[in-house]
Amino acid sequence: MGNDKNTIVILGAGYGGLTSALRLASLFKYNNSVEICLIDKNPFHTYKTQLHEAAVRNVTVSIPIENIIKKTKIRFIQGEVVSISPERRTLKLKSSDISFDYLVIALGSITNYYNIEGLKDYSLTLQSLDDAQAIFEHINGVCEEARLSNNYNHQRDLLRFVVGGGGLTGVEFAAELVDFLKKTQNPMGFEVIVIEGGSRLVPSLEEDLSKQIHERLEKKGVTILTNRFITKRTADTVLLSTGETIRSYTLIWTGGIRISDIFQSSGLKTGLMGRIVVNEYLQALDYPYIFALGDNALAMNPSTNKPVPTAAQFALQQGRVVAENVYRLITRQPLISYKPKILGEVVSLGKHLAVGWLALPFINKLKFIGFLGSLIKAAIEDKHILLLKKESRNWIGWQG
Ligand SMILES: Cc1cc2nc3c(=O)[nH]c(=O)nc-3n(C[C@H](O)[C@H](O)[C@H](O)COP(=O)(O)OP(=O)(O)OC[C@H]3O[C@@H](n4cnc5c(N)ncnc54)[C@H](O)[C@@H]3O)c2cc1C
Repeated sequence: MGNDKNTIVILGAGYGGLTSALRLASLFKYNNSVEICLIDKNPFHTYKTQLHEAAVRNVTVSIPIENIIKKTKIRFIQGEVVSISPERRTLKLKSSDISFDYLVIALGSITNYYNIEGLKDYSLTLQSLDDAQAIFEHINGVCEEARLSNNYNHQRDLLRFVVGGGGLTGVEFAAELVDFLKKTQNPMGFEVIVIEGGSRLVPSLEEDLSKQIHERLEKKGVTILTNRFITKRTADTVLLSTGETIRSYTLIWTGGIRISDIFQSSGLKTGLMGRIVVNEYLQALDYPYIFALGDNALAMNPSTNKPVPTAAQFALQQGRVVAENVYRLITRQPLISYKPKILGEVVSLGKHLAVGWLALPFINKLKFIGFLGSLIKAAIEDKHILLLKKESRNWIGWQG
């Protein structure tokens, strides 16, 4: 950097950041005065929406970034962002400093432990590929230890798995786990328990769908405890707000997310969950050359006046809008406003079952439960890979 070119730096090669980078590369394909630099701490793009499958079945849920961008003008730097200086238009990675003319922030979210005693030290989380691999190894480790143990009570404790949080991630993970345990363990020998603070699972869904998820999970053998908060975690117990204590060596914490403190300490205006406050064009307040998107952006839905939820579908949409707006800013054209399109919600309950709804023209909401749902979920995931291939103009060069 440090030359006459306009440098666009994109932080994060997740759903939103990668989409933005690929779209910008295509908009500026023939413009040599623009450099596009993509930064991520990992050398791969993760399909985060499938992490629960990797955590239980060890399926591949990542693609090397270099393979995706190799036919484009994007330069990839692997590095962890530690601070941003919006005024000086610079940022620090752990090992170097980078300057930018335009910045796109898409670093996703991190786990929120809500300062619950012992939770950070004695739970596993599901936010990254490393997390999924750690869970996979842990589950296989405790199953093996249980197999070798002669102590019945110890065996029971080893095979009692607690999932903290009955939102989308917790529910999808619990369903995968119970399917795996059914195939590998004595059916009477294990327990999967979901603890949910609210009165129902996946509260973002309508009540009838939450109820369906509850029933289907129970039918699979998952125990669901609602209206209970985890108040303390030790190495082998989970304490609940009701006074109950569950003995377990495994707590998978999916009960909350927040945004990195980097943004608040950089002077960017942040709001709920630490998300960066953005205007209708997804620009950070007071910094028109800085854009935020996906989980990082506190974008408002103008139809409801509520914040746009943290979800892959919105990160993808915003990635496209931000690319268009950076292009328009540089080429001095009016910017476009972001209006979220809610396409639906699908919750997978194992490989062959899903519950959810899709927004369709004329019908409004198409609700589905069952095997058809799992086909819809698979189609949504395949569509992401197809779009990445299309944007990177790379149909046969890498495996999706
Ligand atoms: C298990 C699970 C299941 C989910 N299922 C669904 C679903 O079914 N449907 C749905 O819509 N949403 C789902 N979500 C939510 C969805 O994955 C997120 O909303 C979405 O990934 C947000 O996209 P993003 O581009 O903002 O960030 P991300 O996709 O999280 O990408 C962030 C990127 O930034 C990188 N990064 C982070 N910090 C740094 C740093 N300091 N320096 C450098 N790089 C960094 C990360 O490596 C990552 O590549 C799920 C989430 C999880 C965890």
